[in-house]
Amino acid sequence: MRILFVTSEAFPLIKTGGLADVSGSLPAALQAIGADVRILIPGYPAVLDKLVNPTFLTTISNLPHDGTINLIIGEMPETKVPVMVIESAGLYQRNGGPYVDSTGKDWEDNPYRFGTLSLVAAMLSSDQSPLKDWSPEITHCNDWQSGLTPAFMHFMSAGRTKMKQAKSLLSIHNLAFQGSYSADWVKRLGLPAESYQINGVEYYGQLSFLKAGIFYADGLSTVSPTYAKEIQTEAYGFGMQGLLTARGTEIHGILNGLDTHEWNPAIDPHLVQHYDADNITGKQVVKKMLQTKLRLKVEANTPLLGVVSRLTHQKGLDMLSACAETLITQYGCQLAVLGSGDASFEQGYRDLSRRFPDQVSVTIGYNEALSHQMMAGCDIFIMPSRFEPCGLNQMYGLRYGTPPVVTYTGGLADSVQDTNEDSLNNKTATGFVMKKADANDLVSAVSKALGYYQDKKTWKKIQENGMRQNLDWSRSAKAYMRMYEEILHK
Ligand code: ADP
Repeated sequence: MRILFVTSEAFPLIKTGGLADVSGSLPAALQAIGADVRILIPGYPAVLDKLVNPTFLTTISNLPHDGTINLIIGEMPETKVPVMVIESAGLYQRNGGPYVDSTGKDWEDNPYRFGTLSLVAAMLSSDQSPLKDWSPEITHCNDWQSGLTPAFMHFMSAGRTKMKQAKSLLSIHNLAFQGSYSADWVKRLGLPAESYQINGVEYYGQLSFLKAGIFYADGLSTVSPTYAKEIQTEAYGFGMQGLLTARGTEIHGILNGLDTHEWNPAIDPHLVQHYDADNITGKQVVKKMLQTKLRLKVEANTPLLGVVSRLTHQKGLDMLSACAETLITQYGCQLAVLGSGDASFEQGYRDLSRRFPDQVSVTIGYNEALSHQMMAGCDIFIMPSRFEPCGLNQMYGLRYGTPPVVTYTGGLADSVQDTNEDSLNNKTATGFVMKKADANDLVSAVSKALGYYQDKKTWKKIQENGMRQNLDWSRSAKAYMRMYEEILHK
């Protein structure tokens, strides 16, 4: 099976969130079971920097931004998965993030930047591709950034009976980000005028990259079975529930796996002490190091709550700030937060750490090493998301013996089993599930977790259940392969 995996971020080349983790791991897991996978990604400076063995492939001209791009092929560090990089000084080689500038503002030319990613993906997906020696059978697009690919593929092949094309798949990692732009972009990106209609790329008076993908892709998937159902409802559908319901039976929900090499407390290079499910004692050493590093009071028995997250409404971190003082003063917890996002959230957490310097540590920014140390050094991981397509951090928490407190939604519902007598008896208890997404329920769930935390023997069982769970990509990769087969033979 030949697969073109189109993505706007892939770890370790470039990462802003969970999509990068998936794009780093899934292609490697597919390769391991025999697939011929190539990643296609924009050439941001970090990508060009880290790409292994880069070689020039071809040039493509007359693209919508009046430009020319170079296609380069190289390899992922470590996994050696082939990566095709779109090199364009004008579009991608600039300081700042993949989507926003250094002040956090969306790049104004994002439609060109990701329209080009989508168009190049579509061009590579047919037997008339600028590449002579390789074309995919499946073009696997991810989120809005490559959402226009299926639309371009549709219009490229229209009326050209001789053109053989790949089948397209769109995976939705977060429906909240839709890539919607004013209608004049339809023409500027070279889409035909007739595409701009309800049965096409139009979405409430705008061009929506994501809607285009959902409408034109041959297959659809999302990153957990529960989220696949939720997005067909008004509460979680972000306005797309009608279209998604119409294709409801076709939407596959496949839970993400983890990079179990990168996220393994037994070998993690970011930890001062390693540990595993057979001997968790080393976790205490990491906790001590973390408390010291974060300038928290070094106390072995004080429960340390951890958050590593984008600081946004989606992640429910306003619920945590609403009850943090209670958790600290009445329940005697410490809190460590790592993340960045909405300015008001960042400020709120900074203020909290100023008020409780011994009990609260807040690190604003992105820090891969610290995120590993927090996963290992904290006692309980807090993730009260309002919606969560899959979520990876709760699974990192499971793997590092840091039971998560989560809301019952999306991938959180599919990966965390609430602790109670039954689940303890049958060894499935792995965390604590809130009943409702509000601050009171968060306090109740943390309070329940703390009750078990005091009972060291039971706590160890909960930790072990999570740590022994098989979370690697192999099962999910097989599910993706079955889905590709299904789409190919549709
Ligand atoms: P999302 O993709 O919605 O942000 P996920 O839980 O799916 O959430 O994935 C988030 C990924 O980004 C995880 O790998 C997490 O460890 C990482 N991450 C998020 N914020 C930070 C941060 N401030 N520093 C380091 N890693 C972070």
